[in-house]
Amino acid sequence: MAKELYPACARCTKMVCHPAIRADETPPFDEMPPFCPMRLHAELIEKTVMEYDKPEVEEFARLASVQEFECYEWAEEGLRTKIPRIEETIQFADKCGYYRLGIAFCTGLRNEARMLTDILENKGFQVVSVCCKAGATAKERIGIKPEQKIRGSVNWESMCNPVFQAEILNAETVDLAIMLGLCVGHDTLFIKYCHVPITGSVT
Ligand code: SF4
Repeated sequence: MAKELYPACARCTKMVCHPAIRADETPPFDEMPPFCPMRLHAELIEKTVMEYDKPEVEEFARLASVQEFECYEWAEEGLRTKIPRIEETIQFADKCGYYRLGIAFCTGLRNEARMLTDILENKGFQVVSVCCKAGATAKERIGIKPEQKIRGSVNWESMCNPVFQAEILNAETVDLAIMLGLCVGHDTLFIKYCHVPITGSVT
C-alpha cells in the first residue's frame, strides 16, 4: 500500500522554503521533498498570498514582520531573540496603534495576570482582564461528575468559561486579546469565540 502523503515540515531537512541564497536567486523548488506542503498544495500559495492584497491584512502582516525584524538577530550560534515576548507584544501593540488591551487568563496565573496588567498599564495601555472562572458556573452544568472535580466531589468547583472570557473581551471592544496560560481546549474555545485580534505570545 502506498504511503499516505501529507505535509510534514517537521521532518524536513531541505528548507527549500527558506533557503540560504541571495535575494536575486530563486529557491530550489525541484528539491522539495514529497511531503512538502508547497508541492502537495501548490494552489494554496498564490491563493493565500492574494489575501495580503487586502490593505488591512497587508498592513498587519507588514507590521508583524517589522516587529519580527526588531526581535531577532543573527549571532555566531545562529538566529536568536533580542527581547522577551512581553516586550514584543508591547512594541507590536504600539505599532498597531492599540490602546485597550484584554487579558484572558487562567486562574492559576492570577499573580502573573496582575503583573502583566501593571506592566502594560505602566506602558500607557488600558487593560481589561477576565479570569477563566468568571461566570461562577458550577462544573456540573457541563456534565462534570462529582468525582471529576479537582477540589473533591463535595466541594464547589467553577467551570472554566472561555466562551464568557471571549464574549467579555468582544463586548469591551478591546483592540487586542492576550491569552495568558489558558488550558488546552479552553484556549481552543476562546479562540473560536473571540472576534478581536488575539495573541498567545506573551510568554
Ligand atoms: S515547506 Fe517544504 S521545504 Fe519548507 S520545511 Fe516544509 S517540507 Fe521543507
